Amino acid sequence: MTTTLALANQKGGVAKTTSVASIGAALAEAGQRVLLVDLDPQGSLTFSLGIDPEELDVTVAEVLLGKAAAQDAIVTTDEGLDLLPANVALAEAEENLVSRTGREQRLRVALAKVADDYDWIVLDCPPALGVLTIGALSAADEVLIPLQAETLSHRGVGQLLDTIHDVRQFINPDLVIRGVLATMYDGRTAHARNVLAAISETYDLQVVDPPIPKTIRFAEAPAIGRSILSTAGSHKGAEAYRAVARVLAEGR
Ligand code: ADP
Ligand code: MG
Repeated sequence: MTTTLALANQKGGVAKTTSVASIGAALAEAGQRVLLVDLDPQGSLTFSLGIDPEELDVTVAEVLLGKAAAQDAIVTTDEGLDLLPANVALAEAEENLVSRTGREQRLRVALAKVADDYDWIVLDCPPALGVLTIGALSAADEVLIPLQAETLSHRGVGQLLDTIHDVRQFINPDLVIRGVLATMYDGRTAHARNVLAAISETYDLQVVDPPIPKTIRFAEAPAIGRSILSTAGSHKGAEAYRAVARVLAEGR
């Protein structure tokens, strides 16, 4: 059985991409077959896995437009992860999709053809609530919401939850909200702890444990094109993602 997990938050810089790469690497380390999907035209996930987005001819853009099968776009990375990559072509594809039939179902249909090859498919959403994020939520079994607990970054959470509820009502009734993942967390401050508690209470959301600590090690990883886990072996951030991956796997 394949579990498709979307990491979504329309706010940029909350560690969606870092979390997708790290959770994916942790699941792969644990022997799971993992496909990551880059749904951001910026191609940050693709880049962070050591692939130059601009060198690619076939990406998720062509898959969504029906010009290529997912199988033809998927690449295997040095991390032992498979990746359905993205580059700037996805921006144009997104515009084009807006007027195309089945736009919200295209990712789900494309991934269904490769799902048997994977235990986990993890989707990295762009920082917007447009057709790409809705397509991801339509393809997903579960959604995890990364939040930077320290700031007021939870302001958009209500809007995201409205979108999730719409997707559930009209497209994907079985979509489960797995909860929020606190990222760049500084548990030493009462403020961070209070914000996290307030978010969980206000929106009636589970908080996935443990939170991911703020550490400089995360900023270093993408620059050399490798995931956090393999650059660092073990540091507190990598360990936290490994623990989160175990929690997610238990929930299956
Ligand atoms: P998003 O995909 O939501 O835009 P990113 O994953 O690209 O967010 O992360 C934004 C920035 O924050 C990146 O520079 C990343 O290296 C950094 N970052 C992510 N997680 C942490 C962390 N736990 N501690 C410190 N910096 C982090
Ligand atoms: Mg990102």
